[in-house]
Amino acid sequence: MKYLIANWKMNLGIKESVELSKKISGEIESDKIKTIVLCPSFASLAEVSEVIKKSSLKLGAQDIFWVNKGAFTGEVGAPELKEIGVEFVIVGHSERRHIVGETDEVIAKKMKLAADFGLRPILCVGETGDERENEQAEKRVAEQLDLGLQLLDNAQISKILIAYEPVWAIGTGKACSPDDALSMFVLIKKVLQEKFSENNIPILYGGSTDDKNIASYIEAGYAGALVGGSSLKPLTFLKMKEAIE
Ligand code: PEP
Repeated sequence: MKYLIANWKMNLGIKESVELSKKISGEIESDKIKTIVLCPSFASLAEVSEVIKKSSLKLGAQDIFWVNKGAFTGEVGAPELKEIGVEFVIVGHSERRHIVGETDEVIAKKMKLAADFGLRPILCVGETGDERENEQAEKRVAEQLDLGLQLLDNAQISKILIAYEPVWAIGTGKACSPDDALSMFVLIKKVLQEKFSENNIPILYGGSTDDKNIASYIEAGYAGALVGGSSLKPLTFLKMKEAIE
């Protein structure tokens, strides 16, 4: 199975999200080998869910809280997300790590809660530019995997996805070279196998992907992409879908 996950971040209002999901769902036929997931903002989830419910598109949230219910002002819980039709959840996106200040420990709790509620969490890992320059990239990604997955049992780990997203490549137009992406793919596979005895977790690439470069990540072994900027352009996004055969 290949995956294309559209992360619209906070870029669209509700009407714009509905329009974009209509454009995409109108062009997507049911496809048993590709899973296309739209992740609008929390405010747009319910309306996008209505638009895509008869299509093969899946709904994802951009974040989740680590407790399911209670006095947590401003947060959104797993039961609510499920009620709306959410199936996937992005966890530990670099913008949450670096702008909001989420730690690996918080991310581990979010992964656990999402898994406990039967959602499929997508754990984002990736080094900063400084970490890459200082040859710490592999060490940091291995650590993010170790810590981010520490609370999951084996059955839960088998349902997750990993997105390798080098921080310096996100939204910059500087995509990771296929060779560096391949080295990191090999490292992630090794950690998942050695520490978690898992060989089938889909590993996605994210960071300035488009219809021109996505095929090179698939060739390196990645099972698809987590897509920011290009997912806001329906034509490009649809071409990316065609490119991930
Ligand atoms: C992202 O934010 O997850 C992402 C990959 O963004 P972009 O495709 O714009 O680099």
